[in-house]
Amino acid sequence: MSTGVKRTRTMNVPELALTRQYVEIAEEAEQAFAQVLSTQRFASGPRVAELEERLASYCQTRFAVGVASGTDALLVALLTLGVGPGDEVITSPFTFFATAGAIHRVGARPVFVDIRADTFNLNPELVPAAVTERTRALLPVHLYGQVADMDPLLALARGRDLPVIEDAAQAVGATYRGRRAGSFGRAACLSFYPTKNLGAYGEAGMLLTSEGAVADRARLLRNHGMTQQYLHHCVGFNSRMDELQAAILLVKLRHLEVWNGARRERAATYAKLLAGVPEVVPPAVDPRCEHIFHQYVIRAPRRDALLAHLRGHGVGARVFYPFPLHLQPCFAGLGYREGDFPEAERAAREVLALPLYPELQTEEQEYVVETLAEFYQG
Ligand SMILES: *Cc1c(COP(=O)(O)O)cnc(C)c1O
Repeated sequence: MSTGVKRTRTMNVPELALTRQYVEIAEEAEQAFAQVLSTQRFASGPRVAELEERLASYCQTRFAVGVASGTDALLVALLTLGVGPGDEVITSPFTFFATAGAIHRVGARPVFVDIRADTFNLNPELVPAAVTERTRALLPVHLYGQVADMDPLLALARGRDLPVIEDAAQAVGATYRGRRAGSFGRAACLSFYPTKNLGAYGEAGMLLTSEGAVADRARLLRNHGMTQQYLHHCVGFNSRMDELQAAILLVKLRHLEVWNGARRERAATYAKLLAGVPEVVPPAVDPRCEHIFHQYVIRAPRRDALLAHLRGHGVGARVFYPFPLHLQPCFAGLGYREGDFPEAERAAREVLALPLYPELQTEEQEYVVETLAEFYQG
């Protein structure tokens, strides 16, 4: 034992435990899959249409357009709003790569703005200074399941006539001033990657919007710009949503509120337990937000050594994300340097996600925090 503290037990607390969720819904899931198999209709069928309707209603938008991934939803959102070569899009340097990757993919330039120290989301106070004549959109990310500070961002966007696109990939069901993530911008993207709060059994994503014209154009783009059979109005691509994914997502959507509630309860349990470990900073919840804890992320001194200690004792902790996007090798051409975004860089050094899912047991949480406390005592 490296710490010299006598351990009373060891446990394995995995980072993810999708099989625990699966046993709970196995019957419903298998039935839903069997129904699709019996119809042999796999692309853009009635289940995709039903899921679009239900998610639009759940997320408080008028329309939803199913696509093949969250990354595609971002691409389609940018394209439908006319973002392209020569344009700049303001976003966070502290997010999953796809946010900035999609901006680059449509030929535009990601312009990064530093994050707030408390919520890890875009700092709206720093955004005005980054707006130029070439700015074509604002793309805030609702990181870890908490909506970004939308009021000042929306006010700025209105004043400058800029569209807002929300990256709500980690925040399906989260709210800000009682409204759902995805309902604030002109378009928003959801991801159903299997590890997300609402995860498919493969890849899928969705674009949300309340503008009919944006929804229509997104529907064209996802299916090669086809308006009627083999008549192509514009050049799109294939990003159709799969019926099997829609079928399982319809099943899971029925449980989402309960699961998000269970995540919040477990986050509250961690907060209580972590009060006994003054070295770490638990996640801050903006009082205007209902956080859905896609990840439960603390700040921790000597983070990398702590991570090794936790992993060494069976705790599936992980760093989201160790490298801020302005310092990624593929973006070297953008000309950013270390020191440009001190809060994003500090977050990349300090953050650590602890295991959190609706099926996590209190005993497991106690073990995680004991193991963490032992590191700092040792
Ligand atoms: C997961 C994720 C995406 C991309 O979604 P995929 O479905 O994996 O393509 C985009 N942005 C954020 C913040 C994400 O977490």
